[in-house]
Amino acid sequence: MAAINMMQLSYRCPKIEVRQSKIHGRGLFAKADISTGDVVLVKGGHIVDRKTLREKITPRLGPVEIQIDDDLFIAPVTQEERELSMLYLNHSCAANLGMRGEITFVAMRDIRAGEELTHDWATTDDDDYSVECKCGAPNCRKVLTGKDWQRPELRRRYAGYFSVYLARKIAASCHSEQSEEPHNRSSDHVE
Ligand SMILES: [Zn+2]
Repeated sequence: MAAINMMQLSYRCPKIEVRQSKIHGRGLFAKADISTGDVVLVKGGHIVDRKTLREKITPRLGPVEIQIDDDLFIAPVTQEERELSMLYLNHSCAANLGMRGEITFVAMRDIRAGEELTHDWATTDDDDYSVECKCGAPNCRKVLTGKDWQRPELRRRYAGYFSVYLARKIAASCHSEQSEEPHNRSSDHVE
């Protein structure tokens, strides 16, 4: 066990390990089979707004955060905390982990030992970035944006696995589309 002052900020289930990844740098890999719905990771850190993240954290620590609401992120704030909070979870356009809530990552399907664990930024992010993707998945989008959660095919693919704050936006936009349709309520209702 680590000393109390070096306690992990994030949780990693015992079935996974950090190794070199073909996608990017270090990644997370299954050491044993993982079942659909298993909790794999829980992100820990400080809750910060976008301004603090961009001005004070990203320049020093790099991309270390998970977005949890429109203007809230969870991230380490010091170099020492970085290792204790980092998930080393790469993006894939064919992700095998989805969200339960805003900080908990669960297996969206059965995952075999040896597979890399991945998350699709579309399930957590609502931002204004646009970056090239080289994840290597057959269905790679090539360009990732902070608005990918709005894409219909991703809403279908990740239904039930979006961060809750995004799921609420998706439900609200579906509701407003439905309410534009005419109601079929019968007008000649007889008592
Ligand atoms: Zn990709």
